[in-house]
Amino acid sequence: VQMTQMPELVALMHSLVGLAACLVGFASYVDTSTVFPTEAEKAIHEVEIYIGILIGAVTFSGSVIAFGKLSGKIGGKPLLLPARHWLNLAGLLGVIWFGAQFLNAHDINSGMLPLAVMTVIALLFGVHMVMAIGGADMPVVVSMLNSYSGWAAAATGFMLSNDLLIVTGALVGSSGAILSYIMCRAMNRNFISVIAGGFGTGGGTTPAAAGAEPAGEVTAISAVETAELLRDAKNVIIVPGYGMAVAQAQHTVYEITKFLREKGVNVRFGIHPVAGRMPGHMNVLLAEAKVPYDIVFEMDELNEDFPDTDVSMVIGANDIVNPAAEDDPTSPIAGMPVLQVWKAKTSIVMKRSMASGYAGVDNPLFYKENNRMLFGDAKKMLDEVLAALKG
Ligand code: NDP
Repeated sequence: VQMTQMPELVALMHSLVGLAACLVGFASYVDTSTVFPTEAEKAIHEVEIYIGILIGAVTFSGSVIAFGKLSGKIGGKPLLLPARHWLNLAGLLGVIWFGAQFLNAHDINSGMLPLAVMTVIALLFGVHMVMAIGGADMPVVVSMLNSYSGWAAAATGFMLSNDLLIVTGALVGSSGAILSYIMCRAMNRNFISVIAGGFGTGGGTTPAAAGAEPAGEVTAISAVETAELLRDAKNVIIVPGYGMAVAQAQHTVYEITKFLREKGVNVRFGIHPVAGRMPGHMNVLLAEAKVPYDIVFEMDELNEDFPDTDVSMVIGANDIVNPAAEDDPTSPIAGMPVLQVWKAKTSIVMKRSMASGYAGVDNPLFYKENNRMLFGDAKKMLDEVLAALKG
């Protein structure tokens, strides 16, 4: 797979963990070789099976839909069925009711039906849950499914009496839950409202309708002019985004950083928690290019430094530097904290066109007076900037 397809692959992998939990659950139920000394132990084992299959089925179908959304096979627009919360509640009640039937069943034949019905409800619930989540909330969903896959693995561990699986599953489950919480905070979203769904637009390459009319003229800049601005700067903040990953430009970014630092320019990186397409995406790419950790900062650590910055260079990022998140309460990404690159003396945005980012909203940053657009593939343009710097 391409590096940019990693998030889809991760979603697909989560689905396999869920599927495994379901299959192990059904297999342990029909397996009569284990003899339980007491009725209580048998009941505990059946509860493990029921919960394991429940979590596994939600994880499986939810992850398949997340894969579809991340790969663009399914649109990012939230599917909002009427009375969707009631549907979910009815599903939950159904799961509890069939759970009681399952535990009261006297043999495998009579227990299989409630187990199968619950599995179908859980599969539908997984589909419904992720379909209702808008494009802009996908980062939270990805980490949430990561957490679910951990719980599914832990449940499998219980069913198989495998301590290692229980421990590793619980680690993944709890760290995924913490990550989801961090992502929610980073996007200024409430976890419950993310799950309730409906946030964000269809995503894609065209600016969204409401308030998204191009707000003026943009000023283009060449690679040579960019190099001049960088050479004259004392403080530079680089903000990488998804486009850097697509272009695989991280190595050239570091070449430029090294060159500028040798000339005494203070170069730092500002990382938004949801930059790219998976948690930690930018950190991984920068680490791969051997960018030293001490010049890579979280958004909160340097957002106040933009007014003292000469050049902020945005490489293939869009949503995470969109001032509409702060200024326009009607924007689908309203309230999401963003890197305030426009507060630098000059901001340079490197991307191929005027297309919008993942959330599908237009970006007023492009039309600001102190903003320059360096149009082209990030890797190609950065190679030209590096050549001009050295030249
Ligand atoms: P965006 O998707 O907002 O913007 C990326 C920009 O990169 C595009 O506008 C595109 O513009 C440009 N681009 C694409 N290819 C290239 C290229 N080869 N060279 C130069 N530019 C390129 O990315 P951000 O990182 O700013 O924001 C992340 C978004 O993804 C957020 O909305 C976040 O919610 C969402 N998301 C994040 C996840 C996560 O876990 N981090 C998971 C799922 C979604 P153009 O086409 O004009 O070049």
